[in-house]
Amino acid sequence: MLQIGPKSWTRSLVCVGGYVLKSRIGLLALALVVSVSAPAAITFNLSYLAGTSAQQQTAFQQAAARWSNIFNDNITINLTVGTASLGSGILGSTGSPSVGVSYSSFRSALIADATSANDTTATSNLQAGPSLTVRTNRWSNNPNGNNSVTPYTATLTNMAITRANAKAIGILGATDTASDGSITFTTNTSTLPSGGYSYTPGSVASNQIDFVGIATHEIGHALGFVSGVDAVDGGGNGADNASAWVRPMDLYRFSSTSGTNPDLTAGTPAKYFSLDKGVTGQSVTFSTGVADGDGNQASHWKDSLGLGIMDPTASNGETLAISANDIKMFDVIGYNLAPVPEPATMVAFGLGALAVMRRRKNRS
Ligand SMILES: [Zn+2]
Repeated sequence: MLQIGPKSWTRSLVCVGGYVLKSRIGLLALALVVSVSAPAAITFNLSYLAGTSAQQQTAFQQAAARWSNIFNDNITINLTVGTASLGSGILGSTGSPSVGVSYSSFRSALIADATSANDTTATSNLQAGPSLTVRTNRWSNNPNGNNSVTPYTATLTNMAITRANAKAIGILGATDTASDGSITFTTNTSTLPSGGYSYTPGSVASNQIDFVGIATHEIGHALGFVSGVDAVDGGGNGADNASAWVRPMDLYRFSSTSGTNPDLTAGTPAKYFSLDKGVTGQSVTFSTGVADGDGNQASHWKDSLGLGIMDPTASNGETLAISANDIKMFDVIGYNLAPVPEPATMVAFGLGALAVMRRRKNRS
């Protein structure tokens, strides 16, 4: 969910690109026959509900292309896109079906999928399993009392991951055709500013909301930027092991009091993004919960710090862009970074020029 809210900071647009048209799949396949080393890309299979304008569809494809240009997992993600009058203050929302998986299976798949230096750091610091020990609160079997806010240590065995994330690490078939998410943009005029949406990235007037930015954000949730702490938040829960609720990004959620176990409590203290069991990463923080925490869903970065596209709010006139923090998170939950040509390669001729052409074709 992305909410409208006060912001005093601005960000510059860093990601503009073309998009992966479904009609180009054949062209990609042909390219792969010619050159088996050509990199793949995430393909988005988009279905639009009635009422989604052509302008909105084009803008949504631009948002999808931002992710395809960064990650090259050879998977197809099926999203349904529509509009509705959402609750006051809510700009967009995403429903993303998830699959349950044991922590052991997830860990093994993530290790097998590791490609980057951050993947190596992240996976080498994961608990060995088969069980996963976390700090949490609220659940009915909290030894401090039914749904108490007082933290305790829980031992779990299962996780939940979005279907898109499951495809990225090979737990689901790469081209499985069931829905991987449903994204809705508000038409509520009491939420939108007088200028409505801007559909032009980098050109968002002071009385407009950045539609492509919001779309990018909502796709991020479907890809897997989701925290189980939103299930913890507010209480009213059953036993901690009665359902799969820990999410991949929760494995990197730590606090000053969590020790070496992930901190999956709602509320204080601050939670931060760490690949090394909480030793580093204190400057990149998460939202801490609507009910028990700072007022924002835990499935986001901390609000208004400029941490990335998964910030929970957007302001009038604000351009929203994918950040290094966003990319790092999606990398370590199972997406693979597309190689970026070295400057030396780009200026070389012969083989270098060929490499650049292949990349452009696959990034288009
Ligand atoms: Zn959101």
